[in-house]
Amino acid sequence: MSTGLLGFEDVQERQGGPMAYVSPSRLSCWLSCPLKWAFRYRDGLRTPTSAALFTGKAVHAALEVYYRHKQLGLTLAADDVIQRSTESWSRLADEEDMTFDSADAETAMRQQVADLVRVYLNTVPVDEKVLAVEVAAEAPLVDPFTGEDLGIPLVGVIDLVLDSQAGPLIADFKTAARSSEPMEISNEIQLSSYAWLHRQITGQQEAGLEIRSMIKTKVPKCEFHPYPARTDAHFRRLFSVIREYLAALDRGTFNFRPGFGCGMCDFRSTHCSRWAG
Ligand code: SF4
Repeated sequence: MSTGLLGFEDVQERQGGPMAYVSPSRLSCWLSCPLKWAFRYRDGLRTPTSAALFTGKAVHAALEVYYRHKQLGLTLAADDVIQRSTESWSRLADEEDMTFDSADAETAMRQQVADLVRVYLNTVPVDEKVLAVEVAAEAPLVDPFTGEDLGIPLVGVIDLVLDSQAGPLIADFKTAARSSEPMEISNEIQLSSYAWLHRQITGQQEAGLEIRSMIKTKVPKCEFHPYPARTDAHFRRLFSVIREYLAALDRGTFNFRPGFGCGMCDFRSTHCSRWAG
C-alpha cells in the first residue's frame, strides 16, 4: 500500500467500493447517518448539485488557480483570478452537472463567487509562502499506538499548506451562509485526518490548522479560524471512529439516524421515506 500524493483526478475517479479507502467525507457522512452513507457510498445514488455546493466548488477552483501561481512565484491580481474563474465557469458547471434556476440566478451566483474571491484575496497577506495546493494524499491506516495495519488507506484532499513562521499550516476553505465560529469538534474528523495525512507524507508535524471561511452575506466577509496542532488524543479518537466505521461496514448494517441533519438530506423524501429497516 502506498503513501504519497495522488493527482486530484485520481481521487475524483477513485470511487471503488466502500472498502477501497476511508476518507474524511465518508467518515463524517457515516457519523451523521449510516443510512445516508449507504445510499451515497454503498448504493452510489447521486443527488443534484446544490447552489451552495456549486458556489463552494467555484470558489475553491478560483483559489486553487491563485495558489498554484503563487507556488510558482507569481501573484495574480484579484481581477485576473476572477477573469479566469469566469472563463472556466461553463466547464465547471458541466463537470458538476449543475442546473441553474434561471439565467439571472446563474449571473447572481457568478457575481457572488467573484465577490467572495475578491474579499478573500484582499484579506490574505501577499507574502504567504505556499508549500502545497489541493494535495490529494493517501496513506495506509496503521494505528500509531498499536502498530496494527487496518488494511485500508486514508485518502483526502488538503486545500492548502502554507509555510508559516512556526512551521507548516494546513488550511481548509469553506463557504458559509452566515458568520459563526466553526465548532472545533464539528470539524475534528476532517482536521485530524488532514494532519495525519500531512504527517505521514512529509514526516513533519503541522504548526497548526486553519479554517478559512468565506461568508455569503450581502457584504461578503472572510474569517480565519485557527486551531492548534493535533495531539495524540485527537489521533486516538480518529482511529477509534475509523475502527467502528470499518466494523459497521463488515456487519453491513446501516440504520437511519433521524435528527437535525434530516433537514438538509437529499434522500429524505425519496429513499429514506421508503426505507423499512
Ligand atoms: S432523512 Fe435523516 S434519517 Fe433519513 S437518510 Fe437522511 S439523514 Fe438519515
